[in-house]
Amino acid sequence: MNSASDTMFDVLIIGAGVIGLALAGQLARPDRKLAILERNERFGQETSSRNSEVIHAGLYYPREFLKSRLCVEGNGLLHAWCRRHDIPHARIGKLVVAANDDEEARLADIKAMAADNGVTGLEILGKRRLRSLEPAVAAQAALLSPTTGIVDSHRLMRSFLAAAETRGAILSCRAGVTAIHRVVGGYELEINHGEYRVATKVLINSAGLHADAVAARAGIDIDAAGYRLRPCKGNYLRPSPSPSLRHLVYPLPQRNNVGLGIHATVDLAGRIRFGPDSRYLDDGEISLLQDGETTTDGPAVGKAKLYAIDEGREKDFAAAVGRYLPGIAEASLSPDMSGIRPKLQGPGDPATDFLIREESDRGFPGLIDLIGIESPGLTACLAIAAYVEKKFF
Ligand SMILES: Cc1cc2nc3c(=O)[nH]c(=O)nc-3n(C[C@H](O)[C@H](O)[C@H](O)COP(=O)(O)OP(=O)(O)OC[C@H]3O[C@@H](n4cnc5c(N)ncnc54)[C@H](O)[C@@H]3O)c2cc1C
Repeated sequence: MNSASDTMFDVLIIGAGVIGLALAGQLARPDRKLAILERNERFGQETSSRNSEVIHAGLYYPREFLKSRLCVEGNGLLHAWCRRHDIPHARIGKLVVAANDDEEARLADIKAMAADNGVTGLEILGKRRLRSLEPAVAAQAALLSPTTGIVDSHRLMRSFLAAAETRGAILSCRAGVTAIHRVVGGYELEINHGEYRVATKVLINSAGLHADAVAARAGIDIDAAGYRLRPCKGNYLRPSPSPSLRHLVYPLPQRNNVGLGIHATVDLAGRIRFGPDSRYLDDGEISLLQDGETTTDGPAVGKAKLYAIDEGREKDFAAAVGRYLPGIAEASLSPDMSGIRPKLQGPGDPATDFLIREESDRGFPGLIDLIGIESPGLTACLAIAAYVEKKFF
């Protein structure tokens, strides 16, 4: 990219995660100057490559939430995109399992709410059907969601980038946005602390875990606006030997949807992983995360520390998973990876929705913020991109 701000872009997107890339794929046109700015060396190095890679059906979110609508729409769009672009994916289905009568009653509630939100094909299975589908799973009943799937998120992101580049968009890596100034007709951005500047008419903030910091840099009072993120870590462990499973298996979600409970995921190679658990970052870790944001690739040590698997999680994981997969021994679990959820919901708060808004009313016309794009953000990426285009372009 040129090192002067004499080039005025039509659209600049901050962040080359699955959301920024899906937006670029959606918005790129030969007659629109569009670029994606990414501080890391490559696209997709943060949350978009540290997740369960599940194409969710949209079971749990209240009907009025954007999360609900965009997840259900996104599920269909993503499966279709993957088929069309030859992205490895599989509609393997998900089982939400109930251990007792109380939990079985909650399954029925989830089924009713999900069906109301437009999720199709849901079925409650008794013990015998469940056994025949998944002999290793012990539960009284289960909700089968046949539209839930898995996807290769890296190949998916690459396909979005290819779609955007074909229509003239540019991805600029090692380009950390370190200052944002309002100028006539748009915004001027400083890259890497003044290394160069770029200007744009429309600025899209899809900076994931740093979307609040980016909004603040543009001039928004993030505490008054309710934009401050509460990063929440999730660890994954891998069992060896691996149980044999054909479906994703989930316990019932935590009551306030902080996480979906420690579940068993199956990847496209058939490998099983357990996780993620949920732990809000402490102040020291939040400082580390924030310090990393203004440097390209973050300080390696800080990043390694943030994403190191929390120690001593084996016992809790074995107990949680053992409720539906008996015989998982603590000693059979080893660290796999971790991710950090960009949550707007703080500890003890009610569930929050995706925040997607154009900021004219706060005095920032042409600034579009996407904040709190936690799960099901991967599933919803194409629906989010279509929503942004329809609403703001
Ligand atoms: C543990 C876990 C499990 C999950 N499981 C699922 C799942 O199974 N299914 C599902 O649908 N969703 C899941 N999600 C959610 C999903 O991963 C996210 O919603 C999605 O990846 C968010 O993508 P993003 O592009 O917004 O963020 P990111 O992938 O974090 O991308 C943001 C990008 O912005 C860049 N950036 C930040 N600041 C700057 C700056 N100042 N200048 C330039 N670039 C900057 C970053 O480097 C980063 O590359 C999960 C999330 C977690 C944490």
